[in-house]
Amino acid sequence: MARITMKFGGTSVGSDAAIAQVVDIVQAALDDGHAVLVVCSAMSGVTNMLIEGAQTAAAGDSDRYQVLAAALRDKHLSTIEVLLEPGAEFEALRDEINARIDEFATLCHGISVLHEASPRVMDKVSSLGERMSVPVIAALLQQRGVPSRAISACDIVVTDDQFQNAAVLFKETEARARQELIPLLEQGIVPVVTGFIGATRDGMITTLGRGGSDYSGALLGAYVNSDEVWIWTDVDGVMTADPRMVPDAQIIPVLSYGEVGEMAYFGAKVLHSKTVQPVVDRNIPIRVKNTFNPAFEGTLITNQEQATPGTVKAVTAIRDVSLVTVAGRGMIGVPGIAARTFLAVARQGANVLMISQSSSEQSICFVIPQAKSAAVVQAIEDELARELERQDIDRAWADNDVEIVTVVGAGMRNQPGVAARVFGALGEATVNIQAIAQGASDYSLSMVVHASGTETAIRQIHELVVINGRDQSIPAPVAARVVPGT
Ligand code: ADP
Ligand code: ASP
Ligand code: MG
Repeated sequence: MARITMKFGGTSVGSDAAIAQVVDIVQAALDDGHAVLVVCSAMSGVTNMLIEGAQTAAAGDSDRYQVLAAALRDKHLSTIEVLLEPGAEFEALRDEINARIDEFATLCHGISVLHEASPRVMDKVSSLGERMSVPVIAALLQQRGVPSRAISACDIVVTDDQFQNAAVLFKETEARARQELIPLLEQGIVPVVTGFIGATRDGMITTLGRGGSDYSGALLGAYVNSDEVWIWTDVDGVMTADPRMVPDAQIIPVLSYGEVGEMAYFGAKVLHSKTVQPVVDRNIPIRVKNTFNPAFEGTLITNQEQATPGTVKAVTAIRDVSLVTVAGRGMIGVPGIAARTFLAVARQGANVLMISQSSSEQSICFVIPQAKSAAVVQAIEDELARELERQDIDRAWADNDVEIVTVVGAGMRNQPGVAARVFGALGEATVNIQAIAQGASDYSLSMVVHASGTETAIRQIHELVVINGRDQSIPAPVAARVVPGT
């Protein structure tokens, strides 16, 4: 008997049919003798609607959130009407959903009066989706005769107060997860826990960043000593490229933690970038599987590297970024410019996604999220005001029209030939590379390209390097099945 943590994403709980499928999957695992911990996202689209309601209210629109509240109420109530039999439990669930929607409307009303939505209020609003989906799934399991308990991660996942992107306080979270969840698992009860959310020590609701349920699943999975963590989603596994951009992208059967970490960090939306962190040390395998095609094996993620020299496994992209450059001939020999530049960036809370410095030391360039670019350039100008005045530095500027394209694969390690093939593919597609950086892990290579070139770059690299340049000795990617309803 194994202990398996299963995280279900938005599409996997996005309709009554999908939720019924989720319950079948959990039931099948229990029938096989496993103990199961479930972590769930909000129903698909719900988090976006909640955020839209708050944002439009902040902009002074006091109608839109009411329309959204009605749609959200209808979405959840019609789902439970199909799934659950009438009776006291149905009524309790209906009251709970109504209470959450009323909370949404009240919060949005407050936001519209104040014309302001602080990060703290945004987290309260965006937590509501998971707080509605989880009781539904627990109730359906219960109705099917599976003992289960709906649990809010606010009572388990303890975080700092960086609202909207909170950092988990590991020790406290581990202690609470063990104390609250392990006894249930030992009694054969299925805990169903909200993904994405947590709370500060004094009980303020926080979120772990968009797409954060994957991270919640891995974190709780690790803390209850799971044998495996299964991420159930709407595609057959981790693919060689984003299937929305590359229609013939294929499923990668096996990946290492490091490879998946790089892919997620550099934009592969299938997993949140922090997902592998909690499981690496404990060496817990992750499987990425399709809720709508459960018999398919999906992708297995472990510490085993299946790498042969020269192999690129996947290509990813990050959008909405800016390339910031600090340049000037007088930079040579002025110590500390890089340190001061990055300090200024850090003070703006901007995450540096990649860095590249020209060998002549005449410029430093780095990529940050676009939303921070104006503030970052201003902060650098303030920090280096003296050098700018003396013209040691000519200027600092941001180019917002760029994106990062990254190739990933452990087989790229120390393989100059890979870079040549990637650059060759881009050259053929006449996509100009503005900056290059090799990942610290040695198995990612990132290039900044003009935004208009990203899709061509991705398709060209996918075809010429990932698929046709593939080494035959590792398991081949497999064609994905078209999934209904996605
Ligand atoms: P969930 O709600 O289950 O967390 P997401 O929408 O967050 O699902 O992530 C799954 C989606 O990620 C897929 O439907 C797919 O369109 C997209 N995606 C982007 N890059 C990849 C990739 N390399 N492999 C698989 N899916 C990817
Ligand atoms: N519901 C959250 C979001 O849409 C978290 C998640 O789905 O992982 O971002
Ligand atoms: Mg996701």
